[in-house]
Amino acid sequence: MTHSPSNPILLTASLHVDEARKTISGLVSELLQESRKLNHANDIESVVLDQAINRILAEDLLSPINVPAADNSAMDGFAFNGDCLEDSDRIVTLKLVGTAYAGKPYVSKIGSGECLKIMTGALMPDGCDTVIPQELTESANESLVGFKQNQVKRGENRRLCGEDLQSGKAAIAAGRLLRPSDIGLAASLGVANLKVRRRLKVAILSSGDELRPLGKPLDAGSIYDSNRYSLTGLLNRLNLEIIDCGIVRDDPTSLKAAFIDAASKADVLISSGGVSVGEADFTKQIMQELGDVGFWKIAMRPGRPMAFGTLKPVQDSGHKALFFGLPGNPVAVMVTFYQFVRSALLQLNGASQTESPMTQAIAEVAIRKKPGRTEFQRAILGRGADGKPTVKLTGNQGAGILRSMSEANCFVILPHDQGNIAAGDWVDVALFDGLL
Ligand code: AMP
Ligand code: MG
Repeated sequence: MTHSPSNPILLTASLHVDEARKTISGLVSELLQESRKLNHANDIESVVLDQAINRILAEDLLSPINVPAADNSAMDGFAFNGDCLEDSDRIVTLKLVGTAYAGKPYVSKIGSGECLKIMTGALMPDGCDTVIPQELTESANESLVGFKQNQVKRGENRRLCGEDLQSGKAAIAAGRLLRPSDIGLAASLGVANLKVRRRLKVAILSSGDELRPLGKPLDAGSIYDSNRYSLTGLLNRLNLEIIDCGIVRDDPTSLKAAFIDAASKADVLISSGGVSVGEADFTKQIMQELGDVGFWKIAMRPGRPMAFGTLKPVQDSGHKALFFGLPGNPVAVMVTFYQFVRSALLQLNGASQTESPMTQAIAEVAIRKKPGRTEFQRAILGRGADGKPTVKLTGNQGAGILRSMSEANCFVILPHDQGNIAAGDWVDVALFDGLL
């Protein structure tokens, strides 16, 4: 396989971000095919609506009803039969015979020369096909309504039965990452349960002798382990099952035991730390025994070193686990997660849309950039005085400076071949997940 550690190109040259993404996606496809053979991919469950947020819809949701279920008014106004309309500005006067409210239909037929006061959402009464909005009318007295005939066309301001959705048609396609609007849509159809893919089990661990858990004092040279917390936050946005494998020391025996343990429990293992040049040899050796993992130098900043591949099935788990060895630097962890891990997790779980939407904005100040690597600068997307979108970087962009991430709401993505950016140039922007 192209990602194999035995491939010398990947060990020496820097890999373009797009190529890394393609390789990852190819490997996830292979894994999906294998698991389909083992019937794992059919892991589908039914959940109640309020549990369905951020899950992946497993089958098309077919609408059990027409939406709207019957013709109804799109405006507050007066319903009447459009037969009386001519293309002239002469006033037509209709006799007001009653009122229809949403949820309280008017049951009698409306005759020629008559009209009905109607509220938005109220059913169109028998004999009516047009609604004139209230503000376009005048009334001579309480029982007469007048308006210029050419102010409305026959059929206007009426919502037709099945106009949004027809019974039996797909309301939401399989593979949708379910958002609040999808949950609301399902509810509007009277659907109380959705068939979704089972939650992926994702194990996370932090490796490094210097790492301390929260609640313990910091001795000289040690730091708190923050990566497991930012990873947990990122994973929670995808409604996954997280298996926290804690902090593991930089020693081969502990690391190997932790990887085996994680591979036996999880579909995916995400570790951070231990893949930089000084430490990779050690991890590489373990990975050669446990699976098929490539150690990459990716042409990106931050987040250059990264390992990726599969771990062999452990005991009776029966399936390979996907492995991401992310760099240890706190910002690099988040950047590589957004760039590589998030889309792989979505793909593995059957999502049809795995990429985050991108936009563009104007750089408020110049940005220094060397061609030959993709850069992910942390920034705040805002709006200039002229109303156009702008981005402003959040201070020092070092890979270890988590504050630059915390204060940001987006990445400015500067492509591989891009050089310096001048103030006023348009740049690509990817909003952080969950802000919308
Ligand atoms: P490494 O990739 O292991 O060489 O780590 C790179 C940098 O990230 C070092 O400064 C580490 O101390 C730091 N680091 C590694 N893991 C973590 C973690 N879990 N939380 C916070 N910082 C970390
Ligand atoms: Mg380390």
